[in-house]
This record gives sequence, C-alpha cells and structure tokens, in this order.
Amino acid sequence: MASVARDLQGKKCLECGSEHLFRDYERGELICNDCGIVLEDSLIDQGPEWRSFDSEQDERRARTGSPMTFLSHDKGLATEISWSNKDYYGKRIPHKNRAQIYRVRKWHQRIRVSNAAERNLSLALQMLNDNGGKLGIPKDIKETAALVYRRAVEKNLIRGRSIESIVCASLYAACRMVNLPRTLDEISKASEVNKKKIGKAYRHLAKELSLNLKPTTPYSYVAQFCNKLDLDKQAIVISEEIVRKSIESGISSGKGPTGVAAASIYIASVLVGKPRTQKEVARVSGVTEVTIRNRYKEISKALDIPGLE
Ligand SMILES: [Zn+2]
Repeated sequence: MASVARDLQGKKCLECGSEHLFRDYERGELICNDCGIVLEDSLIDQGPEWRSFDSEQDERRARTGSPMTFLSHDKGLATEISWSNKDYYGKRIPHKNRAQIYRVRKWHQRIRVSNAAERNLSLALQMLNDNGGKLGIPKDIKETAALVYRRAVEKNLIRGRSIESIVCASLYAACRMVNLPRTLDEISKASEVNKKKIGKAYRHLAKELSLNLKPTTPYSYVAQFCNKLDLDKQAIVISEEIVRKSIESGISSGKGPTGVAAASIYIASVLVGKPRTQKEVARVSGVTEVTIRNRYKEISKALDIPGLE
C-alpha cells in the first residue's frame, strides 16, 4: 500500500518539480505521482544479467576510426585476422615482424571473446531503434540515446537490471536532453516495458552518468500534445500563453508539467473553437482526467477565464 508521508512536505520531484510524491513503504520507493519517476528505491529489478564490457571495444573503435553511427554496433569492423604465419597474400611473414603480428592477433582474440557482449549490444540498439521509431523519435535523438546506452554499458550500469528498461531509459533521457521530453507513459506503451521500471532505470542512469537534466517545463509538452490532438499553430500559441501566465501567477509551482500543459491545451482548444474533451487530452498527455480538471479549475480561476464546461 502506498501512503503519503509527512517527511515529504515541501519535497519536489527532481524530474518534473511536482510535489505530488508518495512513498510506497512496502517496496521502499519514493515515487512522483505526476511523472511516475521513482526518486528513491531500495530495490533493483531482477532483469537478465548482462555481461560487462571491456574497454577494448572502445580501443578498437579508436583504432579503426569512429563508428559511422552509434546505433550500429560494429559498422565496418568485420575484419578477420588469420592465425597462420602467412600474410594476406599467402607469403610467409618475416620472423622479425612476427612479434608484432602476434600482438595484433592476441588483441583480435580478445575482441572475439567479447562477441557475446557485442551481440547483446547489437540487440539492445536494435530495440532502441525500433522503440524510437514507434515513438516517432528523430534519428539524431536516437543517436543520442544510443550514446547514453553505450555509456551505461561501459559503466556497467546494466547489471541487475533488464536491458529493455535501460534501453527505454536511454530514450527517455535523450528526449529530455534535447528538451523534447516524452512521457514515461508513451515510452512504456511503445516498448511494453513497465513504466516504473523505466523510471527507476532512468534515475539510475541520470545519477551514475551525471546527466543533470533540469526539470521539464509545461512548454516542452505543448507542441507535441497539440500535434497529437490535431490542433494547429494557433492553439499551440494560446496554450503556451496560458502556460506562461500560469507560471507567472505561481499556481503551476509544485505541479507536474504534463498536467499544466494538458489543462492549458484543454482551455486553448475551447478558446480557438476546436474543443477537445478532457478525456481526449488525458489520453495523449498520460495525465488523468481528474488532474486535468483540477489544473483547469486552478488556471481558469487564476487567469479569470470564464467557465468552459
Ligand atoms: Zn515528477
């Protein structure tokens, strides 16, 4: 059972600034009710174990030049080195060069040992690409996500967690980094990975990789939610105006940004004569209708907007 704790007074979500936090004592977690991020947890999820990566992978990349894309696990690295004392053309290799050749072969053998990890990376990046595609995430953001994922692998952050949750967390982080945040709900739906697991994995990455992402603001969500609701530029501009006034009036402080964005869009849609229902707005924003209604009431009161319902 989750319950609200007294020690949460004045505490805000590090990700979205919401004050709607609750502590799940049974699971030992502190969770944000608005964005779903697990802020503190005493548990780690028991996903498949993942082999750690050795630094040779990087060394190899450094020697063979930068990969074409971070989304591809081994672009242009499929060379094989023979173990005989013959060179590429079948000529015997002079003895004085053999030590050097031996070192190269030794090095190549070590690379082969990491093939299992390489395969896992390849699968993870494929998963990242697919989920990113389903979410309509542009290629450069997927590249950023792949980079975050690689760093997580290098720092051995996958251990004890599922690969899927780290893949999703990397996508979530990348979208945040370019200030085009996707909600955990969206990523969870596209990937069919549990929202809480993604949230936990994300916090883990953010902390260990020092991602230091600023809390999101309602602005970051307005355009994408409007697009999904088939609302045009005019609705976006008015929604942003309502967001701005809500922030200035102080009523959005401590509230989840998706809820503020959703309520502002709901109001704007009515104002521009293309009303969308609270249910429709709730569906695209991942915010409950109750939250939209609450934010709507606060905003319309503070901004003196006549009743729309
Ligand atoms: Zn939050």
